[in-house]
Amino acid sequence: MEIVPIISKGYDSNVYVIKDERVTVIDTGLSQSWLERQLSKVIAPERVDYVINTHAHIDHCGGNALFPNAKTLIHELDAKAMSDGRFYGTASLFSGGRSMGYHRVLKEGDVIDLGEAKLEVLHTPGHTPGSACFYISSIGALFSGDTLFAGGSFGRVDLGGNMEQLKHSLRRLAKLEIEVLYPGHMDVVRGEEARESARLAWEIAEEYY
Ligand SMILES: [Zn+2]
Repeated sequence: MEIVPIISKGYDSNVYVIKDERVTVIDTGLSQSWLERQLSKVIAPERVDYVINTHAHIDHCGGNALFPNAKTLIHELDAKAMSDGRFYGTASLFSGGRSMGYHRVLKEGDVIDLGEAKLEVLHTPGHTPGSACFYISSIGALFSGDTLFAGGSFGRVDLGGNMEQLKHSLRRLAKLEIEVLYPGHMDVVRGEEARESARLAWEIAEEYY
């Protein structure tokens, strides 16, 4: 198994390619053309089996249509925001709404079997109602979407979110054995820096909000 991060510099989310028996892309950025350019160095789009979105904001789902053979997965509570094309108001912020389909909805406790990697679904509402993190416990890898960023930052709650839920979710992540944090935006961090990011985010959220 190999995890290849594509780190965004603009409004696009980060994109993570997991090369395993089944090839998976976690989040797809804002624009398909941006992703197409980045992806060309990593993998052919037709080889991707799963597209998994951490939540239904358009800057994480904009490139979903690039993968002709992939099944699209999203948490059950964010599926409607994707199919109604509004993406909790983020579609109109950027490119205008467009309805997107999905193949399967996820819920807390689901495990997506990629081969070597077993991707556990952690329902972590707050940034949006159906925000989810994906955890590979064998290597302590956490894909945190916009729930948690490096350095103790966390996502905004004014585009479909709820601060009380986010606090609860950050508390949960602060107790997790994280070896590598793969956030939805900005840098990947490892080891103590990753665990400290989660603890700090929870403390800040509890103290100031
Ligand atoms: Zn978001």
